[in-house]
Amino acid sequence: MAQEDAGAEPGKALIHLDGLTKVFETEDVETHALSNIHLNVRKGEWVAIVGPSGSGKSTLLAVLGLLDTATRGAYLLDGRSVLDLSATDRALVRNRHIGFIFQSFNLIGDLTVFENVELPLTYRGMPAAERKQRVERALEKVGMAHRARHMPGQLSGGQQQRVAVARAVAGDPLILLADEPTGNLDSKNGEAVMQLLTELHKGGATICMVTHDPAHARVATRTVSLFDGRIVQDEQRR
Ligand code: ADP
Ligand code: MG
Repeated sequence: MAQEDAGAEPGKALIHLDGLTKVFETEDVETHALSNIHLNVRKGEWVAIVGPSGSGKSTLLAVLGLLDTATRGAYLLDGRSVLDLSATDRALVRNRHIGFIFQSFNLIGDLTVFENVELPLTYRGMPAAERKQRVERALEKVGMAHRARHMPGQLSGGQQQRVAVARAVAGDPLILLADEPTGNLDSKNGEAVMQLLTELHKGGATICMVTHDPAHARVATRTVSLFDGRIVQDEQRR
């Protein structure tokens, strides 16, 4: 099987990348962080993205999450081209359709847990009553409803990451992206986050997750390996 075609037909893919290339230019150095990436991800897949440090994993996730743009190539999200949008429209698509979980949680320190989860929904213009319902449901899902009025600084790292998962899923995104979501956690809290992702996957979520942990990669349905900005292996497990 061709490495590039382990996903779905382009038309059916939730994520379709065609010749995606990202070059960073700093002073006199050009870094090809991603070179000619072809990738299709179908709805419901859980893709682990692995590879050595510097192989382009975070860059790939940032482009998928519309946190960064590409130098060349196409990215269709649910059939819609999203790389040629204005910055404003890109932010709208990101807010509406993408949930992002960071290694370092990235909660806003002077907002409560509730307000952190609510913020992306507010940006979307969702009415307050629906926001409240969604935030409560998401916090319930990750076992953090009892901490809704706490500040992030009052929580452990594991608790903060569970809140970050709630924030990422509260708006029912098309895709959930996670860049080393267990990287800053001890093994017990890391397993708790993996358990949450497992439940979300069973509930139908489409997940792309960067990980260094081979055991975590094996939980995913597919592993895409990067080396020097290229896909060197693409293993579909189930
Ligand atoms: P990984 O997450 O696999 O460790 P990255 O995607 O962070 O890899 O980085 C891929 C390559 O791109 C590396 O060579 C890195 O130094 C370079 N890179 C990443 N971000 C930037 C940036 N903002 N400016 C310049 N080079 C960058
Ligand atoms: Mg990285």
